[in-house]
Amino acid sequence: MDTFDQQHIWHPYAKVPNPIKSHKVLSVEGVYLNLDNGKCVIDGMSSWWSAIHGYNHPVLNQAVVEQLEKMSHIMFGGLTHQSAIDLAKTLVAITPEHLTKVFFTDSGSVAVEVALKMALQYWHNQGQLSKQKFITIRGGYHGDTFGAMSVCDPDNGMHHLFSGSVAQQYFVKSPSVVSVDEALVDLETTLKQHSKAIAAMILEPVIQNAGGMRLYNPQYLLKAKTLCERYNILFILDEIATGFGRTGELFALDYVDVKPDILCLGKALTGGYLTLAATLTTDKVSATVGTLMHGPTFMANPLACAVANASIELLLNSPWQDNIARIEKHFYSELSPLKQHDKVADVRILGAIGIIEMVNDIEVEKTQNQLIDNGVWLRPYGKLLYTMPPFIITDNELLIITNAIKTIVNK
Ligand SMILES: *Cc1c(COP(=O)(O)O)cnc(C)c1O
Repeated sequence: MDTFDQQHIWHPYAKVPNPIKSHKVLSVEGVYLNLDNGKCVIDGMSSWWSAIHGYNHPVLNQAVVEQLEKMSHIMFGGLTHQSAIDLAKTLVAITPEHLTKVFFTDSGSVAVEVALKMALQYWHNQGQLSKQKFITIRGGYHGDTFGAMSVCDPDNGMHHLFSGSVAQQYFVKSPSVVSVDEALVDLETTLKQHSKAIAAMILEPVIQNAGGMRLYNPQYLLKAKTLCERYNILFILDEIATGFGRTGELFALDYVDVKPDILCLGKALTGGYLTLAATLTTDKVSATVGTLMHGPTFMANPLACAVANASIELLLNSPWQDNIARIEKHFYSELSPLKQHDKVADVRILGAIGIIEMVNDIEVEKTQNQLIDNGVWLRPYGKLLYTMPPFIITDNELLIITNAIKTIVNK
């Protein structure tokens, strides 16, 4: 705990001074965070989906050090470097075949902004000047910048705070709340009426994450994509949270082999080491877009690209599918029975993601302190207590997380 921190520094979705003290981390190792109070807790959040290999990993450390000794950064305008080239090649190779062009950004939100810009420029350059809006399913989360915010859930997102500045978009029923058929009817009804005003549909495949941790049938993706084609709308998938194995497939789109026009990646891209994201698209979209009016200062940062290359190689050479299956099985056996509990509204499990939805809102500070006493770091929000641990977590460590969750539920 640090008083200066509490008084002067903003933390995510918080105020300064912060009524809740942040826990100070001294070092990290494997799945563990070492806190300044001497406690050592398992990071059940993987630093928000990203630290899939755990911390202080020798292979990732070495990749950063080797790159650092050559160059830590150069501008990407007019210059290039091998780590970016290698990473773009890899991303093109491991994502659906038709995605061939890569735009690097420094965060997931900006990758979404770039995706939205690509879609707008795509139609603009074909003279379709009325296509200025986006359509999405309710309950989504795509980031905190203005374009990304506009396609977050209109109720639990930040629309009400910035309603005068955030663009109005089209929201349709989510297949995580209604049946796939009902959601598709709502989508088609809206597309029929408004497709001339819509540039693209954007959504998170298979699981809606920060907007509510809800799962849906991947068949929706194929049918929504077909509708988008019929009504001349680009299809953007945001795999910033789901990418790189988390759901049990390398990308969640692999569940149904859906082919997005644009794909956003981030979070686990660098194994949680550095900030980097990417927006991929097709030959057709890139050719039509032409000059893309975007160019971040730290575009394709070499340190980030080098560690991303090492992280993807590490992932693909590891038994990641076995690890995810093992974690999923553990969640089914340890968390599913909590469904019977009076205080639990729902338990949802997909790959290395375990979600408990409580009946009532969770008291965050108190719950976090209890979790820490039980050796675990989680960040509950609203009614949701959930975990997405590093893939390298052992069965014993998993049990510590699920036991801590049971302790909270039983309190
Ligand atoms: C986290 C997230 C983002 C935003 O990424 P940042 O790196 O935090 O800007 C966008 N989309 C999804 C699905 C996310 O989970």
